[in-house]
Amino acid sequence: MILAVLEASDGSLKKISAELAAAARKAQALLGADGVALLLIGADDVAADAACALDCDLCLTVKGEAFSGYAAEAWAAAVVQAAKDVSAPLILFGSTSFGRDLAPRVAGLMEAGLLADVAELTLEDGHLAAARSVYSGKVNARLASLSAVTLATVRPNAFSPAGSAAPQAPRRELEVAVDPASVHCRAREVRRQAATRPELTEASVVVAGGRGLKDPENFHLIEELADLLGAAVGTTRATVDAGWRPHSEQIGQTGKNIAPALYINVGISGAVQHISGVFGSRTIVSVNRDAEAPIFKISDYGVVGDALEILPHLIEEVRRLG
Ligand SMILES: Cc1cc2nc3c(=O)[nH]c(=O)nc-3n(C[C@H](O)[C@H](O)[C@H](O)COP(=O)(O)OP(=O)(O)OC[C@H]3O[C@@H](n4cnc5c(N)ncnc54)[C@H](O)[C@@H]3O)c2cc1C
Repeated sequence: MILAVLEASDGSLKKISAELAAAARKAQALLGADGVALLLIGADDVAADAACALDCDLCLTVKGEAFSGYAAEAWAAAVVQAAKDVSAPLILFGSTSFGRDLAPRVAGLMEAGLLADVAELTLEDGHLAAARSVYSGKVNARLASLSAVTLATVRPNAFSPAGSAAPQAPRRELEVAVDPASVHCRAREVRRQAATRPELTEASVVVAGGRGLKDPENFHLIEELADLLGAAVGTTRATVDAGWRPHSEQIGQTGKNIAPALYINVGISGAVQHISGVFGSRTIVSVNRDAEAPIFKISDYGVVGDALEILPHLIEEVRRLG
């Protein structure tokens, strides 16, 4: 079976989980595998029920003290055991901070090939192949895995989330024995910010502002537009370094990668380190007063003008439409 390692927090599945289920179903058809198994580690019954309701054939859970918080070595051991249990030829993870930490560990333990940050899965000459953007979106790389077992991290928003299926898939709990001495690193505490907006890496719309907003006070315009669109707020390193915005909002090489359907950016020059985090965006709309700003090279729509004049009009128009 194709195995997908899901993510949950506070009793809810994260959005990437339904996307992984969809990617797994697609891979199952490509490889002719005999089903899709979803794996949920350290989550409660509510999240497990939600996983069973996704379009899959089996839901595996791993519980117990060793899995109550993320512990890389223990969780990697659980994935390896689940993969063996369902004879998985392919194991999918989210290309998230969690998946990017866990997948290489599992690849090392299983001596398996890892396709990182994939946006598409295909079959080439009988081998699973994947596409991913490299060099800040300038090149589309095609990767093929030649190992017997393949692992892949799947870029958020690359696959439409799987719907629910009836009847629910059966659930089975896996007993995974972990030697405590083998666990060298454990997350002891997770501090959540009171978030009223979607998570940047999962959002289907992102509105970001840069140094061109001139003053941190003016970010209320970015926030207002974001809230009208149900979007996440993003920014550049320049404003983070200036103490205008928190690092959690930074997009780019030393921040987060985004892959929304719509990325609206205002007063952002388009430095290569910023662009490297946005190339997964489907449609890019840029507002900049400099018609030569590099951001326009990757934009689908561009507005040349003053951010502080354009933003209030944009907000008014979005409000009027709906
Ligand atoms: C190792 C390294 C890692 C980095 N990592 C990142 C990263 O992860 N993410 C990131 O974003 N950056 C990163 N940077 C920094 C990056 O190189 C840029 O300095 C940064 O992205 C610039 O941010 P900005 O576009 O907000 O500011 P600026 O480059 O100053 O651009 C401001 C833009 O606003 C426009 N503007 C000015 N006034 C107005 C106005 N009134 N109305 C409309 N437009 C206006 C200007 O024309 C300009 O294009 C990194 C740099 C290094 C060296």
